[in-house]
Amino acid sequence: MAIRIDGKLVSAYLREQIKKNVTALKEKTGVTPGLAVMLVGDDPASAVYVRNKHRACDEVGMYSEVITMPADTTEDALLVRLADLNNDPKIHGILVQLPLPKHISEEKVIAAIDPRKDVDAFHESNVGKIMLGSYDFLPCTPAGVMELLHYYDIPIQGKDCVVVGRSNIVGKPQALLLLGENGTVTICHSRTKDLATKTREADILVVAIGRPNFITADMVKPGAVVIDVGINRLPDGKLCGDVDFEAVEPIAGAITPVPGGVGPMTITVLLKNALKAAQKSLK
Ligand code: NDP
Repeated sequence: MAIRIDGKLVSAYLREQIKKNVTALKEKTGVTPGLAVMLVGDDPASAVYVRNKHRACDEVGMYSEVITMPADTTEDALLVRLADLNNDPKIHGILVQLPLPKHISEEKVIAAIDPRKDVDAFHESNVGKIMLGSYDFLPCTPAGVMELLHYYDIPIQGKDCVVVGRSNIVGKPQALLLLGENGTVTICHSRTKDLATKTREADILVVAIGRPNFITADMVKPGAVVIDVGINRLPDGKLCGDVDFEAVEPIAGAITPVPGGVGPMTITVLLKNALKAAQKSLK
């Protein structure tokens, strides 16, 4: 039976360390790391994510502000508010909760965040730095996956790593981070031919596609490490991942559950990035 990779446990451990570092920073410099989260519109899932981020900041002793704007906010109004945050010395990290309403260009908004405050690492200058291998911030979800692999001492060097999904938020940066640690990386997507042949080669399989229970046992090499980034809500309201957990757990070497695997790590890395942004602002 596979080792169950416990994202709640790793998260609690890392958040404790972040809390200590926040306290030390406050004592030494008087600076409290501050995160601003912007929420435009009334998407209920986004509202839950934003609330969780706000609460997580509180728990580690960071300052946080939630800026809620109505769904009919104009792009200009959002950019003006963003410019205020860019210039606000209490705020070291800015996160704009996606998706934005259709009439607002996500690209334009992300480009308007001061890269030094871009704790999601979505700004092109941060994306470019990750590509070059010297970065300030890492994107929260793929970096969270790396934290899990490190915590469980899972070797990456020389391993066949298969990432299913190539979004800018998860799949692409995930592949770069695994490559950065000397994994041999294959990226798969919706046009990949014979996906199962590729996934069966993986020593480390990371799946981020948004399709409930898509990866079945016959697509996984026995003993593989399976990281499920997917979060899907089933008609009965339950959450499930992109991997058929029940079927894959008996053959995998290690596996993340959903919920309780990658999910908690995303906010943890966000806190880590906000702390780093505050530390860097002093230099
Ligand atoms: P996107 O919809 O942006 O990207 C999905 C990717 O999966 C695309 O690259 C797509 O390929 C690929 N894909 C879709 N269907 C298939 C298929 N049948 N076979 C192979 N590849 C396929 O999703 P995200 O990357 O934003 O998110 C992926 C999942 O991760 C979602 O469930 C999301 O909820 C979850 N997520 C979880 C987070 C967490 O904190 N744990 C954070 C972010 C996301 P193509 O490019 O060819 O269309």
